[in-house]
Amino acid sequence: MSSAAKPPCPVCGKPAEKAFLPFCSPRCADIDLGRWLKGGYVIPGRPEDDADKGPAPSPGKDEPPES
Ligand SMILES: [Zn+2]
Repeated sequence: MSSAAKPPCPVCGKPAEKAFLPFCSPRCADIDLGRWLKGGYVIPGRPEDDADKGPAPSPGKDEPPES
């Protein structure tokens, strides 16, 4: 065990490298950046995604309110 606890790479879980914190490599940094952009870049009105979400709520089926 090293004296300084290194946080694991959020991408692959390997010990992060000081030069690429908080990642273990520039590759993981790039991967995380891609994820971030994908998740953060919200495009309003995505018919494809909407259609792929799942079956439409069946009529007559009452969903209980979550408390
Ligand atoms: Zn990594």
